[in-house]
Amino acid sequence: MKSLWVFHVNTGACNGCDIEILDVLTPYYDIERLGVKLVPTPRHAHALLVTGPLTRQAYHAAKMAYEAMPPKPRIVIAVGTCACSGGIFHDSYALRREYRESLEYPLKGGTSEFLPVHLYIPGCPPRPEEILYGVALLKNIVEKKIRGELFREGTFVLPRESFNAWVEVLLRARIRKELGYFDGYSLLKRFMELVESSESKEELEKLVEKAINDEGDSRLRYGLEKLYSYYLEVVRTYEGILAAKRAIIGLPK
Ligand code: SF4
Repeated sequence: MKSLWVFHVNTGACNGCDIEILDVLTPYYDIERLGVKLVPTPRHAHALLVTGPLTRQAYHAAKMAYEAMPPKPRIVIAVGTCACSGGIFHDSYALRREYRESLEYPLKGGTSEFLPVHLYIPGCPPRPEEILYGVALLKNIVEKKIRGELFREGTFVLPRESFNAWVEVLLRARIRKELGYFDGYSLLKRFMELVESSESKEELEKLVEKAINDEGDSRLRYGLEKLYSYYLEVVRTYEGILAAKRAIIGLPK
């Protein structure tokens, strides 16, 4: 079933569980992304969401709500310890505990006393993540989400300086036009290594000059020259923008 329409019945909860259900419906947890929708009438519901112990007052109303649901699939979800087993209210005066022949009432307060429960979500109250997990289990989508992957520790690489990353993006588009994807990208990688290893413009100039002289392939030599001239152009533009900004907002040099 892709979407599950639920009708919520409070059979005597302290409202703790109801607040968590509201939480699950809000955009932060957003249970609607699992296809779950709250409906205002049991006649449109696939599932009955029960919170709270089954009190004498609520018993018949809850039963009528269940009977008003379409015959299939008629799922019952007990949310919270009270709905699962009566919880802290198991011996409350609000539940009839002794059996009386002519009267039909719950004895201990658990939802399963009068309905076939398909899913128990215990907790007082259960956390929104637990409700989400329970619903995902019911919809059989947990298996799909869990991958049997072992954690392997990797080496953490610090992100490169944002300026160099920005320059690389600009150069990539240009060198691709000159040398194509494969040669262009591998040459750009070499060039950016030179940029990152140099401390000053002069040092970079020397490194690029050496790389051009050492390169046997004339096409790559041409690419390196182009990259260097593009790089200088980008840096000049950047410095121009920075100077203009400084002039406007009065930043020190
Ligand atoms: S399980 Fe806890 S929070 Fe939920 S209705 Fe019972 S007492 Fe309240």
